[in-house]
Amino acid sequence: MSFSEDQINRYARHILLDGVGGVDQQQLLDSRVLVIGAGGLGSPVLMYLAAAGVGTLGVVDDDVVELSNLQRQIVHSTASVGTPKVDSAKISLAAINPDVTVVPHQMRINVDNAMDLISDYDIIADGSDNFATRFLVNDACYLAKKTLVSAAILRFDAQLYTFKAHEQGDEGHGPCYRCIFPEPPPEGQIPTCAEAGVLGALCGMAGSLQATEVLKELIGIGDSLSGSLMIYDGLATTFRKISVKPDPGCRLCGDNPEITDLTIHQG
Ligand SMILES: [Zn+2]
Repeated sequence: MSFSEDQINRYARHILLDGVGGVDQQQLLDSRVLVIGAGGLGSPVLMYLAAAGVGTLGVVDDDVVELSNLQRQIVHSTASVGTPKVDSAKISLAAINPDVTVVPHQMRINVDNAMDLISDYDIIADGSDNFATRFLVNDACYLAKKTLVSAAILRFDAQLYTFKAHEQGDEGHGPCYRCIFPEPPPEGQIPTCAEAGVLGALCGMAGSLQATEVLKELIGIGDSLSGSLMIYDGLATTFRKISVKPDPGCRLCGDNPEITDLTIHQG
C-alpha cells in the first residue's frame, strides 16, 4: 500500500472510518466495477464509485445525451447534449477523480457480448431501464459467478437488490432475480420511466443506495443485501426490507436448472 499525499487527503474520510481503513481503500483502488446504463441510476452510481476511488469503472451505454435526460442523469451536463453518454460520463468522472480509469463500452449489452463484458469485472451494477436487459444481466452474472447489485425505479418508487446466488454460504445460497420474478412481465404491462415518468431526485437516492451496496460488497463490510429486497416509497417516505428466499424450482439457480447459457435470450 503506497498512497500519495493527495490520496491520503482524498480518501481521509474512508481511511479513518471504523471498519474500513487503508487496506480497504487500496482494495477499492484495485477493484473493477461494470455499471450498466449511464442514466438515472448509473449517474449517481458512477459518480459515488468514482469519488470513492473504485479504480476501474466500465460504463455500458449506447445512447447519446438528450435534453430530457438532464432532469435526473446528473453525470451529464447541458454541454454534453448530443454526445455519447459513455464519453460524457468519462469526462465527468475524470473531473471527479483522476485515480479512476473509466472504460467506455458504447454498446447495448446483449446475448453476444454479455459474458465477455461481465467477465472483466469484479461486481456488476445494473441500472438498466428494461426487463429484457435486467433478465439478461441476472442470467449472465449468475453464469459468470459475479455479484450483481441491481436497482429499479419508476415514478416515486425504487427497489434495490443484491444477487449472488452462485455463492454458497452456511445456509445455502441466496436468490437470483428469477427466484423473485421467474419471467419478464408481458410487454406493456409495466410502464417505463419514459411512459410514466420518474422523480429525478429519487434516482439519486436509489443510485446512492446501490453504490453503497457495491462498496460494501467490494470490501466485505456489513450485512449483504443478498436475500432481501429493499422497497422505497418516495411519497410515503418508507423503506421496507423484505426477506426473499431462493426458489428450488428456479430455472437458473434452482435444483434442476434449465438455463445453463444465454441462448434463451436469443432472437
Ligand atoms: Zn434463481
